[in-house]
Amino acid sequence: MNQELRELYQEVIIDHGRRPRNFKVLEGHTHSQTGYNPLCGDRLQLFLQIRPGPRPVIEEASFQGEGCAISMASASLLTECLKGKTPAEAKALFQQFHQLLTGDDASNREGLGKLQVLAGVRAFPTRIKCATLAWHALLGALDQGETKPDDPVSTE
Ligand code: ZN
Repeated sequence: MNQELRELYQEVIIDHGRRPRNFKVLEGHTHSQTGYNPLCGDRLQLFLQIRPGPRPVIEEASFQGEGCAISMASASLLTECLKGKTPAEAKALFQQFHQLLTGDDASNREGLGKLQVLAGVRAFPTRIKCATLAWHALLGALDQGETKPDDPVSTE
């Protein structure tokens, strides 16, 4: 990665960390899940509004919480990219994102879009849990299908 691109990526993370998008409680959400990363102290709650039907679609996504810039930026970018996706597509995206951060082969970036800015976290194993916290909350929300705010998922 060239220096210019690296700086651009850092800028996006700092921007989203300082001014997270979709940072609110989602009125009328159908799914929600809290997540906690004890290693860093990041804590957030993810909200989804999923339109039911033969082909369910995530219509809205938001989150609230507090934590380091990486965790907030990752959650912000996640909520931006979820809209219009089916739950199955969202899960597939998680697999691809997880591969980008921890896998042997980080070259498959098609479809990741802006999420690629977090690829640099690969070099910092202790921060990977910060970057994936919102995603674990996403999986929890999709799997449980109901609000369980007192039962946070952990990245452990
Ligand atoms: Zn963190």
